[in-house]
Amino acid sequence: MGNSRKQTSAAGTDMVEKMDEFDAIIIGAGVTGLYSLYRLRKLGFSVRAFEEGGGVGGTWFWNRYPGCRFDSESYTYGYSFSEELLQEWDWKEHYSSQPENERYLNYVADKFDLRRDIRLNSRVVSAVFDQDESRWQVQLEDGHRARSQFLITSVGILSAGYMPDFEGIDSFKGKWCHTGRWPAEGMDLVGKRVGVIGTGATGVQLIAEIAKEVAHLTVFQRTANFCAPLRNSPIDAQTQREIKASYPEIFKKCMETPGSFVHQFDPRSAMEVSPEERLEQYERLWAEPGFKKWLANFHDVMIPGQANEDYAEFVRNKIRERVHDPVVAEMLVPKDHMFGSKRLPCESGYYEVYNQDNVLLVDVRAAPIERITPKGVKTADAEYELDVIIFATGYDAVTGSLNKLDIHGEGGQTLKDKFTNGPRTYMGISSAGFPNLFTINAASVGNFVRAAEPLVDWVSDAMCYVRENQFTRISATFEAEDAWVDHVAEAGAKILRTQADSWFVGANIPGKARVLLTSPDSAPVMRAMRTEVAANGYEGFLLQ
Ligand code: NAP
Repeated sequence: MGNSRKQTSAAGTDMVEKMDEFDAIIIGAGVTGLYSLYRLRKLGFSVRAFEEGGGVGGTWFWNRYPGCRFDSESYTYGYSFSEELLQEWDWKEHYSSQPENERYLNYVADKFDLRRDIRLNSRVVSAVFDQDESRWQVQLEDGHRARSQFLITSVGILSAGYMPDFEGIDSFKGKWCHTGRWPAEGMDLVGKRVGVIGTGATGVQLIAEIAKEVAHLTVFQRTANFCAPLRNSPIDAQTQREIKASYPEIFKKCMETPGSFVHQFDPRSAMEVSPEERLEQYERLWAEPGFKKWLANFHDVMIPGQANEDYAEFVRNKIRERVHDPVVAEMLVPKDHMFGSKRLPCESGYYEVYNQDNVLLVDVRAAPIERITPKGVKTADAEYELDVIIFATGYDAVTGSLNKLDIHGEGGQTLKDKFTNGPRTYMGISSAGFPNLFTINAASVGNFVRAAEPLVDWVSDAMCYVRENQFTRISATFEAEDAWVDHVAEAGAKILRTQADSWFVGANIPGKARVLLTSPDSAPVMRAMRTEVAANGYEGFLLQ
């Protein structure tokens, strides 16, 4: 570490430049970055994590907007690698809020002494592969540089915020922000006229919370979403003891399900039981907290077809029941996409917000936003005067955060150029021509920590394999990559997530290629595939 390298200056004289050297550089100190650091250090690698933020936590550092919380059960989301940590940490709520989640990740960073290898406020602006020396050179915005054999991108799948290209934003006299860059000092919304653009999982959480304090709220909705009650509650002492005693079973259950959530589908078809039995199950699960309503329901509720539409109508009617004004209710009822084809937000009092006198729902599909004016938002048919505009407009998912890193592989090729028509990887992890680069963020989806831990374990094992067998490089072969890209397209075409225009397929970003950005396979299938690849001497990878 901290080796000096001799270089020739522009004037032709020798100069000595200090360049930190590591076995591995991790970009990002969120949930996957922290665990990668812990695991690699334990395996004897010298590691440095560069984190853009002023603190650790990634998603849970940046997303400070009111209402931000888990919608998977807190005790299924925490790390499983340390029994001591599991027993020490008390989750306070079944669906824990952002401040608590950030506190948890800071606790982990302190407990495992991770901070000494994390450099905060360190935005990576480029990463270039040096072919002669088989090492990555990473450049930070502040001029600092470092090199390593391995490079791990743990920059999240939803971290490059998307701001629509509205004209006039600079002319706006009030305050504005994107939810993913909520100011650390908070935003004073009390008594203000606030506009929220976007009604995805973020908008739905935010709107329900800020409607309690603003003077007036205008919600600009382009597409109505299927949402369901979260039904959060505090964890009492007895439940806390039960949770702590049953972590092995909780995690075992998670590892058996497609999305690594704790809920197991009912193997029956919704259409093979009587209408009464079907409705009884819909209603019973509706009264339960979290994702159980669909992930523990009849399995075909989440497959395109009759059961899916039957359940969609059940949910539509639930929305209609909660909104007093039938015209507003119909605006909130989704009719243009299948249930489950977009990420399903869980909410706490979201629909009731539209029964408040000081809340206005604006349909920006019918009359699109034309521009931001000094006074507020101008749509095709009106101008809405606002003090604050909040953009809950989502993310340039998966590839957006990678593109920002400006990664150059063999022959100077950039990952951004290579991914123009969608990601080209093998299992999401590795891309041909980019040796020793592991795009962990592009391969992890579902109940995030459950999916990330085994993935990080697999990547660290692969790095040990390279080290122990005296190789210097590992990267996907072009053949394995081509086969994987074809598989994503073919298998992806059959799943619900590719049927709607959402971030899952890049359709939320104008001009972005429409390709499934995540694996089409379930978590157990992905893990089995990776295990087999490793057992076969890293089949599909080029080891040099
Ligand atoms: P999103 O689902 O992509 O929603 C973005 C919203 O902005 C949509 O309503 C979209 O409308 C709207 N929008 C975008 N451009 C617009 C424009 N030009 N004019 C009007 N409206 C526009 O983003 P998100 O809500 O941030 O959620 C992203 C993902 O983050 C979620 O799917 C989820 O995976 C994750 N998330 C998780 C949690 C949690 O775990 N608790 C919470 C929040 C988010 P259209 O639908 O018409 O495009």
